[in-house]
Amino acid sequence: MIDTHGRKIDYLRISVTDRCNLRCRYCMPEEGIENEGHSRMLSLEQIYRLVKIASQTGISNVRLTGGEPLIRRNIVTLVDKIASLPGINDVSMTTNGILFPKMGEDLKQAGLNRVNISLDTLNENKYRYITRRGELGDAIAAVHKALEMDMQPVKINVVMIKGFNDDEILDFAELAYNLPVHIRFIEFMPIGDLDFHTADKCLSIGAVREIIQQKYEFIEGAQVQGHGPAKYVKMVGGQGSLGFISAMSDHFCGSCNRIRMTADGKLRGCLYSYQEIDLRLALYNDCSDEQLRNLFVKAILMKPAQHHMLEGWGAENRRKMYQIGG
Ligand code: SAM
Repeated sequence: MIDTHGRKIDYLRISVTDRCNLRCRYCMPEEGIENEGHSRMLSLEQIYRLVKIASQTGISNVRLTGGEPLIRRNIVTLVDKIASLPGINDVSMTTNGILFPKMGEDLKQAGLNRVNISLDTLNENKYRYITRRGELGDAIAAVHKALEMDMQPVKINVVMIKGFNDDEILDFAELAYNLPVHIRFIEFMPIGDLDFHTADKCLSIGAVREIIQQKYEFIEGAQVQGHGPAKYVKMVGGQGSLGFISAMSDHFCGSCNRIRMTADGKLRGCLYSYQEIDLRLALYNDCSDEQLRNLFVKAILMKPAQHHMLEGWGAENRRKMYQIGG
């Protein structure tokens, strides 16, 4: 479906849970997390029904995220059911990877095409610091498992945080030089009002590119399968690629193709908008498929022209990334 700004909306990101086995400092507070109780979360059957209905409005690509999608019970069954829907061409997932080595084979068999693994540092101590509880070896094992299973393309999400991992930019580039992985450098966004969020931590993609170009020659315009906003380059002689996601310094809202569904069934046209449509309430009220379809249409039509994240540092009472689904 085409929205009011002429954008084709065919991509649905679904948060299947707001719970996580890590506590990344820029995403979730350490304590006091009010996880949605099980009764407030959509059931897998409800998610499946909603995706089926969304596919009738032109949604053909689905990404499962969270929270951590791999801790949602029966996630493999959900992947299987969504991947079997006739209108759905691509099912992918964003994960911290901790449970991926155990679950990867089943997920692939169920129809998961690709994974993005979040990995913000290649240093063990820094990994423990930023995730508050994770072990770097587990995330690295996930990357190797995905490669071993030939889940191409294997993407690695790196949120760039000044003073934390800006000294590792070349290490990440080297990883993509030596392995067929696609490293995506993501600008830090002010999603949720966490103490960790300050504008001075945001490093522009332009600065990241400059650092890498001092060592590697780029081949611009590399094509990597996906439906997102990253602009990819290859490095001459390298195996993988580098992706740049400039949500803050050079937003790509004009070509945004996505809507989002939170774990508690709220439909959003934009990561940063307050506007939400309550699908869970609609399900509770026994809405018909047609009524639900109309709510997807409404969400697409009210998708804003662009985000306003530049004004977002210090903004209060916003939903955090783990609640919306990153
Ligand atoms: N638990 C999964 C994971 O770790 O990939 C999925 C959920 S996580 C919220 C999805 C993505 O959002 C991760 O790659 C994470 O780094 C990113 N993210 C979270 N907060 C962010 C922020 N403030 N700015 C930019 N990216 C962020």
